[in-house]
Amino acid sequence: MQKYLQENGIDDLKKKILCTRCGQEGNGLMGAVKIKCEYCNIPMVQTGYGIREFAILYNESLEGVSLKVMDSMGISEREYQDMIRRRDPRIQDEMARIKGGNPYALFLKEQFPGNFNLTAFESRNAQIKQEKEQKQREIESQKPRCPRCGSTDIKRNHRVINSDIGLYEKYYICYNCMNKFKRPR
Ligand SMILES: [Zn+2]
Ligand SMILES: [Zn+2]
Repeated sequence: MQKYLQENGIDDLKKKILCTRCGQEGNGLMGAVKIKCEYCNIPMVQTGYGIREFAILYNESLEGVSLKVMDSMGISEREYQDMIRRRDPRIQDEMARIKGGNPYALFLKEQFPGNFNLTAFESRNAQIKQEKEQKQREIESQKPRCPRCGSTDIKRNHRVINSDIGLYEKYYICYNCMNKFKRPR
């Protein structure tokens, strides 16, 4: 394995590994090492930077932007931090507006000027988003539903028929239409 990785120019998993064309990240120590970018079908690249170092470098590229975002959105630093934590998309949108493009894409372009391809970056992101939505739809479709209105806002409940012999009747209740039923669909 180590030898194979070295032959592909990857010999240090603590270094940031990515596809310099689309920005797809290698998952390094978190699992199987990706040798090839699954989107571009080209080899991943081991950068000279450590993972942390790379993150710091990116943060530096955002210097001053957070102040401008707070200013233009009229929010306090605390509100700003809260929104970051919640991954509120409005922050990213405002940063993109101020920087004149996706900040991470601009950073990658600066780091890998000969290789980075904005179209590849955007189509990868679109694909990831689509896959996420597809997964979400699958999860939704597998949820038990109220047989009357189709709502997933249902809860299991039971009523006591005879507590002496521990006889209960199980049923579901739908909080959307208040239907009570035996079996979800
Ligand atoms: Zn790629
Ligand atoms: Zn219902």
